This record gives sequence, structure tokens and C-alpha cells, in this order.
Amino acid sequence: MAFSTDCIHAGQEPEPVTGSVTYPIFQTSTYVQPELGKHKGYEYARTQNPTRSVLEANLAALEGGKHAHCFASGMSATDTVFRLLQSGDHVVAAENMYGGSYRLFSKVCEKFGLEFTYVDTSHVANVRAALRPNTKIVFLETPTNPMMTVTDIAACAEVAHSGGALVVVDNTFCSPYLQRPIELGADLVVHSTTKFINGHSDSVGGVVVSNDDAIAEQIGFLQNAVGAILSPFDSWLVLRGVKTLAVRMKQHEENGRTMAKYISGHSKVVKTYYPGLPDHPQHELAKRQMRGFGSMISFELGSKENAKKFLDRVRLCSLAESLGGVETLISHPETMTHASVPLETRTRLGITPGLVRISVGIEDVDDLIADVENAFAGI
Ligand SMILES: *Cc1c(COP(=O)(O)O)cnc(C)c1O
Repeated sequence: MAFSTDCIHAGQEPEPVTGSVTYPIFQTSTYVQPELGKHKGYEYARTQNPTRSVLEANLAALEGGKHAHCFASGMSATDTVFRLLQSGDHVVAAENMYGGSYRLFSKVCEKFGLEFTYVDTSHVANVRAALRPNTKIVFLETPTNPMMTVTDIAACAEVAHSGGALVVVDNTFCSPYLQRPIELGADLVVHSTTKFINGHSDSVGGVVVSNDDAIAEQIGFLQNAVGAILSPFDSWLVLRGVKTLAVRMKQHEENGRTMAKYISGHSKVVKTYYPGLPDHPQHELAKRQMRGFGSMISFELGSKENAKKFLDRVRLCSLAESLGGVETLISHPETMTHASVPLETRTRLGITPGLVRISVGIEDVDDLIADVENAFAGI
């Protein structure tokens, strides 16, 4: 079936007892077993929950994978992936990525003996040069947060696989509507479902998708052993949110393009980072690899003072961390999402005091432009 049909139907038969069209919330911790040694596939709700299973089947289909496991947050999804590794293993990771992923790697995973090399993955040669005999994972995020750098997933997968490493892609910024890394050779896809997949800013969650039975079995084992599962209620919320993923993404995309064009042409803006702009360094790659350019835009206002004036004046756009909701959210990466990245790295990447990131929602784009226009006037 087509993507928009799968959003609504994949993995979701009407509930068998009543025919309920929406799959119910199975709010239970355990399941009665009819006799010793016999059960209906459900023993304990950390291990299996029907609401979660339905969501997992749905998200696996959307990513073009066979298996999905849902977690309590995007970070717990990523954390569980790294529990596939053991002390002494090496990871090549994107030097510009979600600040929380960097914090997990540098402050938690390294304590357990994992080694990380951070490179600019937009040049495949950097990934190749960083590989070691003990490299087990190449971790990519594309486009990156917040610099919107695009990495060639297929080329990196070829290099990583030739070195015996798995490729893990954080696909949060795109959602499977815009980009399907498994089709490009990735072994695992992780998402913060908190963002575009749920899309309504009312649930925190994560997912790991894969096509490989053996790896998926290990992720399932870890999901149960570590226990960072998505709750039945949140599973239901995400199921509800994902039904409109295709229509939301279409509108996000249209609004994103319009806003990027407006912002990049504004006299108060020093530089705009958006893969849909023809002068973006990986514009051609983005065109090839993604089904659209999305609605995440970063732009440089020249100083913290300018950024503050701008952010204090927006009204319709909400100043908040997070992204991917129906409402437009605007943030200051240096002091908000990327505060945990060392200053030297931030400066090198371009995460300056004047950088602002906007997650364009699906409001009327003229209202959004009017709000931003008014805020620019304050600089
Ligand atoms: C938000 C985010 C995460 C973390 O997800 P949580 O659900 O907040 O734990 C990971 N990666 C990216 C790209 C994100 O935007």
C-alpha cells in the first residue's frame, strides 16, 4: 500500500473482541494464563503489550523495515541500540547531531568503555578514515541538528559495511515520509517519536526499526531486559498521531519551503541553513535522498543580542525546545538543545550565539510570516 494508507492501516486490524476501529489502550501490567505453561502470547506488560505491538508493526511498515521496538523516549531507543556493543568497541558518529545523543555518548557510554570518533559525515572519506578494526557502529543523523548538513546514507553504508560496522540513522528530523534509511542500506533506524511521528507535542517516545531478524531479536531482548518501554497510553497517542503523518508532512514541507525562502531573503538574516535552498552545499544530495526538504530551518542573526530581540518578540511561534509538532516552535540551540556540546565544537560547527532554529508547524504560513516579520523588525 502507499505510505499514506500505511500510516492509517499498517499493523492495525480492528480489535477482535468488539471490532473497535481504533485499537484500544491495554492498560494492564499482566495477563491471566489459562493453565500452567500456556499463555496467549502475552505474559507480562514490560515484555509485550498489544497496544505497543500494534504501534511497532505500524512504524516498522512506515520505515520499510520488518521489526520495530518502541521505547519511553528517543534517548532510550538510542541507548538501547548502544547496549548491543561491549567495552572496547568503537563508534564513528556525526560530529554535529542532537545534543542529547552527544551527551549520552560522551557522558554515559564512554564510562562503559565504548570509544567514539566524531567526524563530519557529510564527507564519506571522513567516515572511511575513522574506521578501525573494532568499529561496530557508524551513527548518522541527516539532516543534522541544527546545522542541516546532509549525509549520503547509501555511500556511508557501503563504507561502513565494508569495514564490518552497522549503520544506525537517527531519522527524527525527516520522519519516514521524507527519508527511508533502510532502503538506502542502513541497518537500524532510530526516532524520537516525540517529534514528527507523533506530531502533536503530547507524548515523549522513541523507536528502533530494523530489517535484520537477528539484530531485531537482540533489540527485543534488550528492550525487555533494560525495560525502557513505551507505555500503553503513549503507544495509543502515537498511533493516533501517526495516522495523519502524511498529510501533516505535506503541509510542514510546503510551509517549510515558503518560510525558508522568506527568511533567506530577509535583510536581518546573515545566513540560512535549509537543504531545500539551491545554495545549500548538499542540495543535490538532499533532492536525491529525501522526498522533500522538511520544515526545519536554522538561521544566523549575527549576535546573541539580535537572537534575543527576535525570540522575545515572536508571539505565534513558541519559544521551546523540541520540534516536529503541528505548532511552530522556535529555539536557540546554543543555550537550549546544544548547551551540552563543548564551546569549541559548537563554534566550529556554526552553533553560534546568533543562531536560531525554527520547526515550522502547519498553521497558515502567512500568519507565521507576519509573526516572524514583526520579530525581525525588533532587531
Ligand atoms: C529529540 C531528539 C532526540 C531525543 O528524543 P527524546 O524523545 O527527546 O528522548 C534524538 N534525536 C533527535 C534528532 C531529536 O530531535
